[in-house]
Amino acid sequence: MSSSTDRGFETRAVHAGQAFDPATGAVIPPVHFSTTYAQDGIGGLRGGFEYGRSGNPTRAALETQLAALEGGAHALSFASGLAAEDALLRAALSPGDEVLLGNDVYGGTYRLIARVLGDWGVGVRVVDMSDLAAVRAALEERPARVLWVETPSNPLLRITDIAGLAALGHDAGALVVVDNTFASPALQQPLAHGADVVVHSTTKYLGGHSDVVGGALVLNDDALYEKAKFLQFAVGAVSGPLDAWLTTRGIKTLALRMQRHSENAQRIAQFLVAHPAVQRVYYPGLPTHPGHELAARQMSGFGGIVSVALADAPAARRFAESTRLFQLAESLGGVESLMNYPDEMTHASVRGTELAVPAEVVRLSVGIETADDLIADLDEALASL
Ligand SMILES: *Cc1c(COP(=O)(O)O)cnc(C)c1O
Repeated sequence: MSSSTDRGFETRAVHAGQAFDPATGAVIPPVHFSTTYAQDGIGGLRGGFEYGRSGNPTRAALETQLAALEGGAHALSFASGLAAEDALLRAALSPGDEVLLGNDVYGGTYRLIARVLGDWGVGVRVVDMSDLAAVRAALEERPARVLWVETPSNPLLRITDIAGLAALGHDAGALVVVDNTFASPALQQPLAHGADVVVHSTTKYLGGHSDVVGGALVLNDDALYEKAKFLQFAVGAVSGPLDAWLTTRGIKTLALRMQRHSENAQRIAQFLVAHPAVQRVYYPGLPTHPGHELAARQMSGFGGIVSVALADAPAARRFAESTRLFQLAESLGGVESLMNYPDEMTHASVRGTELAVPAEVVRLSVGIETADDLIADLDEALASL
């Protein structure tokens, strides 16, 4: 059951990697905390497990589940999204190589490449990935080893044509990486559109309850997988057993949660569009969004993130600080609604760079609460501006 991709998404989310415990019949497999494994004679491993950094059954179960959800041959689970990104980039790049990065990717991704890997000879260039002509021009100017895109992007919800980008990237000999954190595999499966690697911060929708930090890679290429797996083992940023188990538990309800996140976000986006204090709403579910039709083809729902531009930065700050149900906090993708002021919170690390977020923009992570309550909260906060 663990690897069958012919079953429906929801079935895979509940069952992949989750066979009952053969020793006891426990329907929920136990969490394995042991750091080491008894050997039947030297080198006689019972389940292939030897030591907790190289492998752990609870982590392996999560990896099976993640691979099944993204339709990939291999998955690796890490201590954080950035740990996953670091392992992938070091597996794929050599000193002197360049990454072509989307111009509104997660700020920490830019920081990792520019300020950590940069010291080891890795270059970075930034381009609007949703503009394929701009990507083509950038690749003609100079080759890139990796194309890195987020779609929908954070926090401006730009939509990139993954199949188009993959074709361009492969023609230029580049590895095409999609950070699928915002959509989650319930709404978008980039490998099926031609991407080479999917990256996740499982801290967000996959975990789904704002109680566990984690990251993952899903890919088909055997050699790149072995290299990233070696780095995971040799460097050691693995997910702990309880973290892996919490993520597995979250994933079982992913499809249901994403459906509700999307429904609530659509209603909120429509409410905000009609509000006089709001200058602009960024949500791919709105027919006026420039990526709406592409998103409708590429995704099976528009997701739970809505960004909004107010009149100016002070209005945006006041709005961000005035809601009561929407809590002012970093991160996204949990069942509870969160409010974020990117310029000084999630995107403070890219202030003053090409990735800077306009100071009048506020980002909402719409939770699964009662939509009317969320709208009333936003309405009250907007009235107080
Ligand atoms: C949060 C996030 C990351 C980083 O993941 P961590 O788990 O915080 O290390 C990467 N990409 C996106 C899109 C994110 O939202």
